[in-house]
Amino acid sequence: MRTQVGIIGAGPAGLLLARILQVHGIESVVLEGRSRDHVLARIRAGVLEQGTVDTLNEYGVGERLMHEGIPHAEMQLRWAGRRHALPLVDETNRRMTTYGQAKVVRDLIDLRETDHLPLLFDAPVESLEDVNSDRPRIRFAHDGQQRTLECDFIAGCDGFHGVSRQYSPDAEEKSALREYPYGWFGVLVEAAPNPEIRGFAHTTRGAAVCSARSKTIGRLYLQVDPNENLDAWSDDDIWNELDLRMQDGSNNRLNRGRILQRDFARLRAFVCESMRYGRLCIAGDAAHIVPPSGAKGLNLAVGDVRVLAEALRRFLTKGDTDLIDRYSEICLRRIWHSVHWSCLLTDAIHMAPGQSRFDTQMQYEALQHWVYTEIGRKHFVSSMLGLPYEV
Ligand SMILES: Cc1cc2nc3c(=O)[nH]c(=O)nc-3n(C[C@H](O)[C@H](O)[C@H](O)COP(=O)(O)OP(=O)(O)OC[C@H]3O[C@@H](n4cnc5c(N)ncnc54)[C@H](O)[C@@H]3O)c2cc1C
Repeated sequence: MRTQVGIIGAGPAGLLLARILQVHGIESVVLEGRSRDHVLARIRAGVLEQGTVDTLNEYGVGERLMHEGIPHAEMQLRWAGRRHALPLVDETNRRMTTYGQAKVVRDLIDLRETDHLPLLFDAPVESLEDVNSDRPRIRFAHDGQQRTLECDFIAGCDGFHGVSRQYSPDAEEKSALREYPYGWFGVLVEAAPNPEIRGFAHTTRGAAVCSARSKTIGRLYLQVDPNENLDAWSDDDIWNELDLRMQDGSNNRLNRGRILQRDFARLRAFVCESMRYGRLCIAGDAAHIVPPSGAKGLNLAVGDVRVLAEALRRFLTKGDTDLIDRYSEICLRRIWHSVHWSCLLTDAIHMAPGQSRFDTQMQYEALQHWVYTEIGRKHFVSSMLGLPYEV
C-alpha cells in the first residue's frame, strides 16, 4: 500500500486532517486500531469553540452541527453556595457550542465513507520505520495479516497512549507533565439538562460540573479521589451528591433520569514540545493533554490539524518546508495558552486534599475576579473562546 499521508488514529484529529487534505486534493489513508462501533460509541468532549465550528463548516462537515448544536451565551459558576453568571460571547459574537465529540466523529466518518476514501478500522499500528527518510513506512495489522503502508509523510493522531510519539527521539526530554491528586467521575444521563443548573460548582465537598450533550442528554461530573470505589455509588448517591454540590439557595434542581454510562478520568496536563521529527508530525492528544475543565482537548486537536494540513499541502504540492519546519512552534503557542487556562480554572474550582481555609479564600478571589471585574471577565471570556488561529 502507498499513499501521500499515512494517518494513525480515527479520532477527531486524524479524521479532520484526512478531510482537509482531501479538500486540497491530497491522498491519505486512515488507520484506526479499534473497531468502528467502538470509535462511534466513545463519549468524550462536548463543547466546541467558535473556531472549531467554523473549521467544520469550512470543510463541509457542519450540516448536522448547525441543526443540532446548542450555542451558549452564558457561563454559570457556583461558589460558597451561590450562583454567579457571566456572558460568554465576545464583541465579534464568538461563542461556545455544545455538540458531542461522538457526533463530530460520526459526521467525519460518514463523509469519508460516502466518498469511498480509505479508512481502516481494526488496524492497529505496531511500528513506524525510516521516519527520518523520505519514504517512511507504517507497519500495522489488518484482517489477520501484517501489512505495510508506504507514505510521503506520517501524521500521528493516535491519542495520548498511541505509538507515534515515541518515534521522536527527544519526545521524552521535551515533555512536561502535571498530575492532579483528583479525578472526574463522569456520568452520561438521559435527562433534559436544566438550563438554570449548569457550569462549574466549587464546594468544600469537591467540584461538580453540569453540561449538556443535547436537549435530552446531560453530561455531569463529580470531583473524586482517584482511589474512590465508584462501583459503591448507587445512581441515587450520584444524583444526591450532584444536587448537594450544585445547590445555590434556589429551589432549582437537576432533572433526574437514567444513567447511561459512567466513567472516570484522572486529571492531568501534559505537553510534548517535540511535535515533528523528520517525516512524522504528531497532533492532538498524541502531543498534549489538558484537564477537561477548560473544554480544550478537542479544540486544541482542531487547531493543530489546521496548521498540519496547510503545512503538508505546501510541502507536498510545492516542496515548501517553511511551515512544516515551524509546525511545533506555531502549535505550541496555542497549546501552552490553553494548558495554562485549563490549569488555572482547574486550580480555582477543585478542592485539593488537605486544602486550607486560606487556599479556599484564594479560589473565591480568583472566581470573584473573573465574574465581577471587567478585566477578569475579558480574560475569562477570551480564554474560554480560544486564541484566533495563526494558520
Ligand atoms: C475519557 C476521556 C474523556 C474526555 N472528556 C473530555 C471532555 O469532557 N471535554 C474535553 O474538552 N475533552 C475531553 N477529553 C479530551 C478529548 O476527548 C480529546 O482531546 C480528543 O479526543 C483528542 O482527539 P484526538 O483525535 O487527538 O485523540 P483521540 O480522540 O484519543 O483519538 C486517537 C485515536 O487513535 C487510535 N489509536 C491509538 N493508538 C493507535 C494505534 N497504535 N494504531 C491505530 N490507531 C490507534 C485510538 O483508538 C483513537 O481512535 C476526554 C478524553 C478522554 C480520554
